Amino acid sequence: MTQVAEPGAARADAPTPGRISHWIGGRVVPGNSGREGPVYDPATGRLTKEVDFASVEEVDAAVAAAKAAFPAWRATSLSKRTDVMFKIRNLVENHRKELAVHVTAEHGKVPSDALGEIARGLENLEFACGIPNLLKGGFSEQVSGGVDVYQIHQPLGVVAGITPFNFPAMVPMWMFATAIACGNTFILKPSEKDPSAANFLAELLAEAGVPDGVFNVVHGDKVAVDAILAHPDIAAVSFVGSTPIARYIYETGTKAGKRVQALGGAKNHMIVLPDADIDMAADAAVSAGYGSSGERCMAVATVVAVGAVADPLVEAIAARLPKVKVGPGSDPTAEMGPLVTRQHRDKVASYLDSGPAQGATVVADGREHPLYTESDGFFLGASLIDHVTTDMDAYRDEIFGPVLTVMRVKTYEEAVALVNDNPYGNGTAIFTRDGGAARQFQFEVDAGMVGINVPVPVPVASYSFGGWKNSLFGDLHMYGPEGIQFYTRAKIVTSRWPDPGTSKIDLGFPRTR
Ligand code: NAD
Repeated sequence: MTQVAEPGAARADAPTPGRISHWIGGRVVPGNSGREGPVYDPATGRLTKEVDFASVEEVDAAVAAAKAAFPAWRATSLSKRTDVMFKIRNLVENHRKELAVHVTAEHGKVPSDALGEIARGLENLEFACGIPNLLKGGFSEQVSGGVDVYQIHQPLGVVAGITPFNFPAMVPMWMFATAIACGNTFILKPSEKDPSAANFLAELLAEAGVPDGVFNVVHGDKVAVDAILAHPDIAAVSFVGSTPIARYIYETGTKAGKRVQALGGAKNHMIVLPDADIDMAADAAVSAGYGSSGERCMAVATVVAVGAVADPLVEAIAARLPKVKVGPGSDPTAEMGPLVTRQHRDKVASYLDSGPAQGATVVADGREHPLYTESDGFFLGASLIDHVTTDMDAYRDEIFGPVLTVMRVKTYEEAVALVNDNPYGNGTAIFTRDGGAARQFQFEVDAGMVGINVPVPVPVASYSFGGWKNSLFGDLHMYGPEGIQFYTRAKIVTSRWPDPGTSKIDLGFPRTR
């Protein structure tokens, strides 16, 4: 009862150059809503493609394809599904450079960073290759005379993933790897800002033998998202994006009876205690603050300098900034690319005005970088604002760009209170040589992911990813063991195989003793 396609068979219809269309039922489906969105190359500022925006009817068509594919896919043996997951993993690994080209062309991150996100996504595919082991249930023998109880994990049906611009390859892999390995069929609604990676992944999945309809991509905006949230045949929605939309997705999706996990924005604090190694802390702050131009939900947004460490730390960070090579992905020496859109770049740069207006000190102004003025790309140099306090916009907002802020506190207790009072609780890190302080920090800090001398503590795929507070709405974190829980529901079977000779009528409530 399997419909696993031959790997390499039936590749897609050729997509129209310059246009990114939907992928439904195993083929490219041009949009017919009459609505589309622009896709830019952030390094040149040029409009390079148009992406179709789905209508409600087009989302319905994707759901119908996914629904039709579900019975055969869930009946496909674990052994065959594992084989397909291995093939997907190998194809993504073999084509990672082409996938990275799509990411760089539309997101703007430099190739080394794009390859990094693909490597982390590959971990999720590798985790999903262990699906026969991951779906093992429990078994209790002889819970009553001749009665056994066991638990099985079954897929939910059609599930959907809505993803942000900043990880156009990795975040979809966070979701679909586990979802389809568990036997669900999947609809991806990627960010409209960098949609090509999703279609490239769809082609690789088809080549790996994923049957038509098991993985679909609908492009679009709020119309497509709302159609997903309202569709009665979609059982669950995974979302990653900003906090206001995450809250909306959670509230709307759960109201419609769906299982929802909605990961939101962040404001990650990196605490540096007075005993920390200054050079190591400065390297970490620069790597985690400016990597991917600060467009990471696990980026360090603010360095919290405790006591006397502040002056030498700010000096050490500032000394490193001129060496951060800003440039387009086509420059092999570039370490930090442009921001995703001009509008976002300008919003990020605005904190370099509001910060000092509200009493902070600009130590490095990325607008002085030549690419800020001389290029049509959406570049901003590495920027540093010191003496930031909790009432300033630069602290209250998620900047999501290469503007690192520094806050100065007198004690460890003040530093922890800052993190715990912040409405977000995605990641946080502490830099210290004091094991006792680090342990106390992990014990009392209110955040979902904690780094000890590790600035970007994104969990490996055998754990799960998720923040606390306004960084996650829902109960289960993404990928890893909690991903398996999210994409399956448990069924408990109580079973007896009686000797017909002992059968009798008993109207009493079933007892086990
Ligand atoms: P976003 O919230 O603007 O968009 C995310 C998705 O929601 C996109 O697919 C988009 O099309 C859709 N969307 C946007 N506006 C909508 C609306 N009004 N109604 C319905 N759907 C809508 O986020 P973004 O700008 O693409 O991504 C950056 C944000 O994502 C940052 O806040 C970042 O912290 C967050 N993020 C969080 C995590 C995490 O794991 N917590 C990971 C990556 C990114």
